[in-house]
Order: sequence, then structure tokens, then C-alpha cells
Amino acid sequence: MKIAVYPGSFDPFTIGHLDVLKNAAGLFDSVYVAVLNNSAKSPVFSVEERVEMIDRMIESEGFQNVRAGSFAGLLVDYAKQIGAQYIIRGLRAITDFEYEFQIDAVNRHLNPEIRTVYFMANPAHSFLSSSNVREIGEMGGSIEGLVPHCNYDYLRERLARQK
Ligand code: ADP
Repeated sequence: MKIAVYPGSFDPFTIGHLDVLKNAAGLFDSVYVAVLNNSAKSPVFSVEERVEMIDRMIESEGFQNVRAGSFAGLLVDYAKQIGAQYIIRGLRAITDFEYEFQIDAVNRHLNPEIRTVYFMANPAHSFLSSSNVREIGEMGGSIEGLVPHCNYDYLRERLARQK
């Protein structure tokens, strides 16, 4: 059974993330979307809120082999715990590549048996990041089409309050 973990801050989960997830869900038997619980990043959304939004997205997209969870500490330890042999990441631009290149080297050092698989961003979403969504939403712009439809109303209200 090929199990993959798709880790990230997902603060919040966007349709760019969804695109990567669709590719991964088609390729692996089981995919865990894992929210990184890292208070040093000062996220806008709590881990519980982020997992809840991802759960809603999984249900609304009808994914049968995707689950949401969260982790703190080393990703390779979490991967081992859930039996994942693969890590999924998305690449938008050269800046992502440099960062991912370093992280991959560290993860290989920590656990050489775990491989990372990368999906290129859909060009239509290559500009899209969680921080774009937060900024647009906080300034009252439309985030429709940038986040999964099932989370749109919740995010719109929540970000408007955040301002
Ligand atoms: P992190 O803080 O771990 O980078 P993010 O939530 O920003 O977490 O992103 C998680 C993963 O999804 C990363 O590999 C990132 O490059 C990828 N990603 C983010 N936005 C997009 C997008 N629009 N298209 C494709 N991949 C993306």
C-alpha cells in the first residue's frame, strides 16, 4: 500500500493546494493532509480550524482515500507513525525549489527511506498562496475561486473579522 503525507501550514487551504492533492490522491492509495502545528509561524487559523476546513473540503470533493490530521515536531517522525513512505509537496516557482531542495536534503538525512514527490503548480494557480488569500480577505477583496467553495463563506467572514 502506497501511503503519502501532504504536509503544510494550510493557513488556509487554497485551490492551489487542492490541485496538488487531486494529483496525489490519484497516484497514491492513501493521502494524509497534515497541518503543521508550529506556533513560531503565528498562523491566523488555529490547527483545529484548519483541520476542520480540510475535513469539509475532503467531504465536499468526495475524496475516498484522503484524511486530514495535524502534527508537531519532525515530519519524518509523523510519516513513520502513519506508515507513509512518500511526502508530497507543490512547486510554484524557483523560490519554492530552493526551499524544497534544502528540506529534502534534511529529510533524506533524517530518514533515507522516505521519498518526496513534487507536483508543479497549475499555471493558473502559480501566483496563489495562503498569504495572498489572507491579505485579500482581510482587505475585503473577493477570495471566491481561490479557496474550496465549501469553505468560502466561512473564510470570507473569518478574514473580514481578522482585519
Ligand atoms: P508550507 O508552510 O509548508 O510551505 P504551505 O501551506 O504554504 O505550507 O504549502 C504547502 C505545500 O503546498 C508546499 O509544498 C507549497 O509549495 C505547496 N503550494 C502552496 N500553494 C500552492 C499552489 N498555488 N500550487 C501548488 N502548490 C502549492
